Amino acid sequence: MSSSIEIHWNEAGRLDALLPKIDPAVAGVLGRALSGEELDFDDGLRLARTAGGELEALVLAADRIRRERVGDVITYVVNRNINFTNVCFVGCRFCAFSRAPREKDVYFHSFEELQRRSLEAWELGAREVCVQGGLPRDLDPFYYRDLLRAIKQATPEMHIHAFSPMEVVYGVELTGMPLRDYLSMLKDAGLGTLPGTAAEILDDDVRHQIERIKLNVSQWLDVIKTAHRLGIRTTSTMMYGHLESEEHWVRHLMLLRDVQKETGGFTEFVPLGFVHEFTQLYKSGDARPGPTRDEHLKVHALSRLMLQGWIDNIQVSWVKMSREMAQECFLAGANDYGGTLMDENISRLAGATSGEYLSPEEFHARIRELGRIPAERTTLYKIVKTFSETNWVRCSVQGSRDCL
Ligand code: SF4
Repeated sequence: MSSSIEIHWNEAGRLDALLPKIDPAVAGVLGRALSGEELDFDDGLRLARTAGGELEALVLAADRIRRERVGDVITYVVNRNINFTNVCFVGCRFCAFSRAPREKDVYFHSFEELQRRSLEAWELGAREVCVQGGLPRDLDPFYYRDLLRAIKQATPEMHIHAFSPMEVVYGVELTGMPLRDYLSMLKDAGLGTLPGTAAEILDDDVRHQIERIKLNVSQWLDVIKTAHRLGIRTTSTMMYGHLESEEHWVRHLMLLRDVQKETGGFTEFVPLGFVHEFTQLYKSGDARPGPTRDEHLKVHALSRLMLQGWIDNIQVSWVKMSREMAQECFLAGANDYGGTLMDENISRLAGATSGEYLSPEEFHARIRELGRIPAERTTLYKIVKTFSETNWVRCSVQGSRDCL
């Protein structure tokens, strides 16, 4: 992977030594971010266009702000991904997961199968299921509500993190219910939180080029803000490394920051690197082949600076990048490793090779390798267990790691 920088992350004082040597305009923006000031569009764009020493300073500043805001703990959630069907009529050009109804590898899991998977996950220690799927035509209008009820019946304590804003809009269309009533119904049926997926880039021109018939920016915002007002919290995401520009990153982050100021409903921000290999968007020549190393580092660092004080949990999506790249993103402002997942299909089918499951032990090893502290959290970022070094040493003497 080519890159313009080497990160001297463990060199004390490196940032302070670097700031006087780089472009003063970039140093000025970083100085203001380090003193907690909110960055505007021009600031963000200046940072988004850095390379070399300026990019290294951005990464180091993001790491320092991360330490000041959330400390050295890296969290993760024990969860299972359940993609209940891959049948979808939407046809997003960046998606290699969806299938037309008559293709030979289509599937549509029964509620019994979803219950079995949820129960199996619960017994393996998962406390969240993340449920999303394709959008099949002629879905039963109350399918999403009934799916929630089925999972709750099998696993009453399981937190259900389910349905992208696109699925919510489809459910509204199928039932003819007002959005607010529809979301309230899902909440009553057991919906815990919504994934803030389907955000891609919150710009209608870009969206039109990458997905054509999917929801527009105002529909996405409407679902998210209505959910927040009903007490349904959501994540927030951005897909980068396709045909967007740096301006889009900055506007996207500012829009998420504005929503957070209004509702306070986002739990985290998840940068999602575009996995290009088997997608029509890439094959047609319309997109870059996913993010470069510099872009991965820059997007994580930029989001830490632009969102500081508003969204302080920045997640690394380990399924969308190599192990090494994921580790490096933790040196660029990130503090959450996401979920263990078990059965991750969407990124794998687009060409990602990072696997379908990471055990808590693997998370612990990776996090300790960074000199940081692993902690299991709930979907809503309540710490379940911190695996501090002291606990680990004591447990390993007893021959059982991470038992406290
Ligand atoms: S991203 Fe979702 S909505 Fe778009 S084609 Fe894939 S499964 Fe369908």
